[in-house]
Amino acid sequence: MNESMTGSADLVKAGVFVGLLLGLLLLERIWPRRQVEGGWIRWARNVGLITLSTITLRIIVPAGAVVMAAATTWGVLHRADWPAPFEFVLSLILLDLAIYWQHRWFHLVPWLWRAHRVHHSDTGFDVSLGVRFHPFEILPSFAYKLAVIVLLGVSPVAVATYEAMLLGFSLWTHANVAVPIWLDRALRWIIVTPDWHRVHHAVHMDESNANFGNILSVWDRLFGTAKEQPRDGHTTMMIGLPEFRAPRDQRILSLLWQPFRDPAPTLMPSASTEDPKP
Ligand SMILES: [Zn+2]
Repeated sequence: MNESMTGSADLVKAGVFVGLLLGLLLLERIWPRRQVEGGWIRWARNVGLITLSTITLRIIVPAGAVVMAAATTWGVLHRADWPAPFEFVLSLILLDLAIYWQHRWFHLVPWLWRAHRVHHSDTGFDVSLGVRFHPFEILPSFAYKLAVIVLLGVSPVAVATYEAMLLGFSLWTHANVAVPIWLDRALRWIIVTPDWHRVHHAVHMDESNANFGNILSVWDRLFGTAKEQPRDGHTTMMIGLPEFRAPRDQRILSLLWQPFRDPAPTLMPSASTEDPKP
């Protein structure tokens, strides 16, 4: 039962991953938003990092969140007697709210930031950034997600659905795709778009401390962390962190070691005072 549950959830995730990856790769080729440097080697590093992270997680916690959700029955939603479709939608919304706060804490708490900054230290922004996560970020993220699932009493189906959506949105929101401005404007009222999330990867700290949402953009508006556009413009803005810009910082061993490193202080690129440009 548990094995088939994990198997189906993994299959759905793999399907979403491969399908979206191929579709977004095609769109990045046809309608790129900006130039991305680094070529295949940057891709190999980002994919290598998530491969190591996934293997580490599976060794430490072989079961997965779906099985954990099935094993507990004492969460808040188990006690409520609401219609199943309502509970399902509510679960997805509450999980996204929880992951919004998880992302904020990863920026606020110094040791969590050390792990999350590996994701932010990429100087490029494309679909491969959507999987660039250090094992030390994946592990506390999983523990936090598990605690939320158990406390809320989220059903295994809702967990599997949210996990597949989160993975899909991680690829979509980092895609280097020129979404038509009118479509972006309409979508960003509710969901995170690549232009919305790119602001979060700006080299300026006031911008990287904004737009924390993963699927719904409404949380940033609700909690006062929304920034509509980057001040330097989408095609010219600098991506990454000022302290990790040397080519040697991007090697796979440097990325793995990055959480333990105290980088030499470097000058922050001067903040432009121009008005935000779409
Ligand atoms: Zn972040």
